[in-house]
Amino acid sequence: MQGMWITMLNFCRPKITEQYPENRGKNQMFDRFRGELTMPHNAKNEHKCTACGLCQSACPNGTITVVSKQITTEDGKTKKALDKHLYDIGSCTFCDLCRQSCNFNALAWSQNFEHAVFTRSTLVKQFNKPGSKVEEKKVATPASAPTVKKEESGKNTEETNTQQS
Ligand code: SF4
Ligand code: SF4
Repeated sequence: MQGMWITMLNFCRPKITEQYPENRGKNQMFDRFRGELTMPHNAKNEHKCTACGLCQSACPNGTITVVSKQITTEDGKTKKALDKHLYDIGSCTFCDLCRQSCNFNALAWSQNFEHAVFTRSTLVKQFNKPGSKVEEKKVATPASAPTVKKEESGKNTEETNTQQS
């Protein structure tokens, strides 16, 4: 009798099964869902990747390949920049080690879970968009830098500016 009662109770409960693919485009995955690794770009086509290669080293499967290049800045200095950031979703185990190893917060998970393709080569994606570049760091000017009071024992108080590097 108790079993019958539980059966009837569950029969009347609202159904929570997702009707996929009928609800395609409307279904919402939970916030922490790791669907696909991405590299977010801002409105100015800038990303945060400095081509340091830490994510490539952290990945246990060789899923990520970071190709860097040397560029010359406006002030004539040579610096390392991202050429290609390649991600092979076919070998990704969604472990998140790459994103956690990134000191620049350049990687993020999207909620896209539809990865089926007809050819393997299309599983390899280039993250940095054509013409994109790394976001410029905002360096505090001496005028805007915070003022720190430096005290010397028995002498006058001196004010110095600190600069963020
Ligand atoms: S995504 Fe992050 S860890 Fe990977 S190369 Fe770019 S800055 Fe380095
Ligand atoms: S989630 Fe894991 S397997 Fe996938 S690219 Fe990142 S480190 Fe590699």
